[in-house]
Amino acid sequence: MNDRAAPRPPMRTCVGCRARASRFDLLRVVAVENGTGPETAVVLTPDRRARLPGRGAYLHLDLRCLDLAERRRVFRRALRLPGPFDMSVLRQWVEQQVAVDRGTGGGD
Ligand SMILES: [Zn+2]
Repeated sequence: MNDRAAPRPPMRTCVGCRARASRFDLLRVVAVENGTGPETAVVLTPDRRARLPGRGAYLHLDLRCLDLAERRRVFRRALRLPGPFDMSVLRQWVEQQVAVDRGTGGGD
């Protein structure tokens, strides 16, 4: 094994299972404001390319981790959300990715 100065990927903690992992193995999640004024909704949005500004929370691409994060309400704390937020986009996205990974996402 070569153990020379290979740069290690930055480590992040999954907000679901609390395990540490390379940030490249975790999905970055950000809160995006959708709409304006009193109609503004905060939508948790997957940010796979880590390009969206703002605070990010990191999560395994795993529904169990998403469930844990939801049950513990960690997104509110991790992303400092002042009010209600919508997880449906994120959940749908993760479900889709998990289905693709299992090769069961083909039928439409
Ligand atoms: Zn996890």
